[in-house]
This record gives sequence, structure tokens and C-alpha cells, in this order.
Amino acid sequence: MELPKHAFFLGKIVPYSEAKVGVATHAFNYGTAVFGGLRGYWNEEKKKLFVFRPMDHYRRFLNSCRILCMEFDHTPESLTQLTLELLRKDNYQQNIYIRPLAYKADEQIGVRLHDLTDELTIFAMPFGQYIKNDTSAHVTISSWRRIDDNMIPARSKISGAYVNSALAKTDAARAGFDEALVLTQDGHLSEGSAMNLFIVRDNVLITPPVTENILEGITRRTVIELAKNELKLAVVERPIDRTEIYICDELILTGTAAQVTAVSRVDHRPVGSGEMGPIAETLRKLFYDVVRGNNPKYAHWNLAV
Ligand code: PMP
Repeated sequence: MELPKHAFFLGKIVPYSEAKVGVATHAFNYGTAVFGGLRGYWNEEKKKLFVFRPMDHYRRFLNSCRILCMEFDHTPESLTQLTLELLRKDNYQQNIYIRPLAYKADEQIGVRLHDLTDELTIFAMPFGQYIKNDTSAHVTISSWRRIDDNMIPARSKISGAYVNSALAKTDAARAGFDEALVLTQDGHLSEGSAMNLFIVRDNVLITPPVTENILEGITRRTVIELAKNELKLAVVERPIDRTEIYICDELILTGTAAQVTAVSRVDHRPVGSGEMGPIAETLRKLFYDVVRGNNPKYAHWNLAV
């Protein structure tokens, strides 16, 4: 992976090599940081870089900050503006990933959230596909359970919480799968290691509600809107049982990194026909058009750099 060129760090944009923290930093020791993840899509015909739904990402980011008792003067607008400044300096002409990160910056010992200094950094780097097999992924149901809202809230993108995702992902990858699905403590489908999930049953798109220890995904929200508006599908948010994914017609994973991924097998069982289904295929086409800034109806989601 290519390194970022610059970073917003301690209040200004600096060369990436200068954006460094000490080993005693609180966030590094205790996982007391929150992050976001946005994509910028390069549109070759328009010769423009479009950032996808930055205001929604930064709204969620600031909510994540609140959960960790972080206080910033920033607004979604000011963070979007900072991101634009950074990206203009970077001048990428390819697809990128943008990572805002807020962290407890003090270099001292002591587990807590209060009476600490909060800092903010943002950097961006070239980024391509995240799941190689994104039209026929083979996933497993992880033996790791999803963290619970009363343990480490999944609706906040807390750095330390991603150990839960990493445990599930590594076991799945080492066992030869493309991704892991995780269950809640009471055995319902929650989400993937870093993506939300949808199933299709009898032409209804079903996804776990936000109370199933999921991250409230921006791509999830996007897919719900596209499915309702463009495919005229019924979308239902309700708990999903494990065995429903053995009998569903389609299984789809969504996320900024994963984009819209079609799953064709779960633990060696075929999903539906065992090949990408029509709803996944249509949603993928729509999504890739929308994020590249090629669909005027959704142009309000694309911020040109
Ligand atoms: N769940 C988890 C655990 C994630 O890390 C992500 C990626 N941010 C998602 C879902 C998808 O969210 P989004 O569509 O906002 O990227």
C-alpha cells in the first residue's frame, strides 16, 4: 500500500513523514481513538475526484467522538473543508481512501476518557478494491461474537474495538474465506468484520436494525435508498437468524471499503443459485455510477475536490 503524501496534524497540513506520535500516546496504549473512512472516486471522463457523502461521514465521526468524551469545535462542514484542503494539496488523480482519526493524545499512563487532550488527524492514500472476490465472495460465520453496545459500542468507530473485527477477519482469511460474518451475543447476524449485510428473501431486502450492534453504515443507508427509489424494493430492518442466510436468495455486504459485494457462498453452502443474484448486480451498477458522480439524481452526495 502506498503511504499518504500529507496529513492534517496538530492543526496544519504537513508532509506525512512529519505526522508522528510518541509510543506513550494514550490512544496507542489503550485504543482510545475513533476514526472514519471515506472514499474519493476519480472520474476519468470528468477529470475530477469526488468524495462520497462527506457530511454524513463527518456527522457519524463527531458522534463517535461524543461517545469517547471528545470535544472539538469542528462541525461536519469544517471537517469537510479541511478534507478538501488536504486533498487539493495531495492532488490525487485516482481512487483514494480518506481516514479522519481523533485520538487521546496525552503521553501518560492511566485508563480513562476524561481529563485528556483530544487531537485530530486526517490523511488520504490511494486505494483500490478491498474484497478481491466482490462478485462471488465466500464468507464464514465467525466463532467470535460481535462486541455489545454495553461493552464497546459498535455504532462508534472506536479504534480499540477493531480488535474484534481483526480477530474475526484473520481467522476467516486463514481458513481460506474472503470475509467473516459475526453474530450478536444472542445469535443474530450483526455484520461483517467491516461491512454491513443485507439478505434478499422473496424480493424483500432485509438488514439488521441499528440495535443489533452494527456500525450505522453510510453505504448501508445509500443501498437502502437506492433499493427503495430505483429498484422499488421493500426494505425491512429486523433481526436476522443464522439459518436465514442458508435459505436466502441473495447476500450482500456493504461498506466504504467493501462497496457493494455479492456473497455467493457461506461456509461452503451456496447462497441462492450460488452466483451473484440480480438485485446485487443491479445495486452494484447503480452504486458505482452514483459514487463516481455519473448519476445527476444523486449528485448531492458527490463532493468535487
Ligand atoms: N461495519 C463496520 C464494523 C465497519 O467498520 C464499516 C466500515 N466503516 C461498516 C460497517 C460500513 O460502514 P460505511 O458504509 O459507513 O463505510
